[in-house]
Amino acid sequence: MPELPEVQTVVTTLSSHVVGKKIRKVLHVRRDMITPDGFDFAAAIKGRTIESLTRRGKRIVFALDDANRFFIHLGMSGKLTAESAKAPILPHTHLIVDLGQSRQLRFRDPRRFGEIRWLGPTVGDEKMGPEPLVMRASQLAAKLKKTKRAIKNALMDQNVIAGLGNIYVDESLFAAGINPLTLASDLDEDAIRRLTKSIKSTLRRAIRHRGSTLRDYVDANGAAGRFKRLHRVYGRKGEPCAKCKTPIERIVLGGRSTCFCPRCQPL
Ligand SMILES: [Zn+2]
Repeated sequence: MPELPEVQTVVTTLSSHVVGKKIRKVLHVRRDMITPDGFDFAAAIKGRTIESLTRRGKRIVFALDDANRFFIHLGMSGKLTAESAKAPILPHTHLIVDLGQSRQLRFRDPRRFGEIRWLGPTVGDEKMGPEPLVMRASQLAAKLKKTKRAIKNALMDQNVIAGLGNIYVDESLFAAGINPLTLASDLDEDAIRRLTKSIKSTLRRAIRHRGSTLRDYVDANGAAGRFKRLHRVYGRKGEPCAKCKTPIERIVLGGRSTCFCPRCQPL
């Protein structure tokens, strides 16, 4: 599932294809992918120019020249691409927008956990937690002291911190030496500082590597090996820890697979 680094890579690679472009026509839209229900999305965006493309958490936010916004969430399997109008239209393509010069913006999502949400003139992120790459430890501390959940579950919550998911939460907790079962409210100042640093370095490292991985992935050139090598604990159950050689353990927490090193991340 795409998390912050993957979504950031989509935004970075897509920007030059869409920013400053006018939406000439909406060639196809699957109505039940749109929130709010029944909103005439095609009519709202037709004729508008895309002024900016940004990321907020895992959302890809389009700002239009009439000050309205919408975002696309990739869900589990969503792919947002700029393609030649001549490229074959693949199954599960839910949005096709004509950007002129034979370019189309396309959103494809076979599993349909993704979403296209109209925001209008609002930003619509009031409840969302801070952006991890620019977050201060004190901001995370303020969120964590309010929750009695396991730190793993707290960090998965987009209202605590934006953009993280299963992979980067496990990786960040490993880098910080924090056990995923630790109660969020039990972390002291030093641990939260370490965690803040680890989240940033883990995400930056993934963003650095994601560009090429994403291209390979889209081209279906079998990037799985390379992708996985980036992870130190995620998906590595039973393999020796990179730091201490203890076998990585896997537990289920909040319904999600959770991998950690019992020695480097003691409870
Ligand atoms: Zn270890």
